[in-house]
Amino acid sequence: MTPTILVVEDEPAIMELVAVNLKHAGFLCVSTGSAEEAETVIRSALPDLVILDWMLPGQSGLALAKKLRSEDRTRDLPIILLTARVHEEDKVRGLETGADDYVTKPFSPKELVARVRAVLRRRAPHLAGEAVKIGDLQLNPANHQVTAKGQVIELGPTEFRLLFFFMTHPERVYTRAQLLDEVWGDHVFIEERTVDVRIRRLRAALGPVGEDERVKTVRGAGYCFQAG
Ligand code: CA
Repeated sequence: MTPTILVVEDEPAIMELVAVNLKHAGFLCVSTGSAEEAETVIRSALPDLVILDWMLPGQSGLALAKKLRSEDRTRDLPIILLTARVHEEDKVRGLETGADDYVTKPFSPKELVARVRAVLRRRAPHLAGEAVKIGDLQLNPANHQVTAKGQVIELGPTEFRLLFFFMTHPERVYTRAQLLDEVWGDHVFIEERTVDVRIRRLRAALGPVGEDERVKTVRGAGYCFQAG
């Protein structure tokens, strides 16, 4: 599961430098030159992290960070602010806005990649590639294998991603739209009914090992994965 990083930077040379280094480090990279473009990208598919330049033409990176933090859908989106400013009060302002980290220009691409990894490990441990275990159920993202009680559970790629998301976000109710956003990366063009179909398949696959009961339907709301 390759994390997607959205880079918002208006200086082409820096954008290129960041993009090349992220790709080299194994990330998928989407680049935009303005906050407005970034909003369009985020509306259609949520990235896993945003690298956001502070100074942009039009809406500033700081204003976009504030907006992302104020909306339900993007509240938890990890943000790293890029800035040429070095004053202490600006750092404070940047972090108060809700940025997870802060990198001052000029920066070393290696350091930026290390910061991206650190923020993902902290904010989205499910993207770090470690195995997840709940009860008898164990999911290993490295080899895409799910096992329970010594048995391998065969899952399609979508059901695998869905189970992965549930196991890393248990005990919370998600609407169909939220699941489309988080698991499919698209809440606009896919019908919500698709979620029900995949949930049925996931339950059917978990049934033989007695783990299907964990996937609960919450009437009028969505679905919830029970860890207990
Ligand atoms: Ca700039």
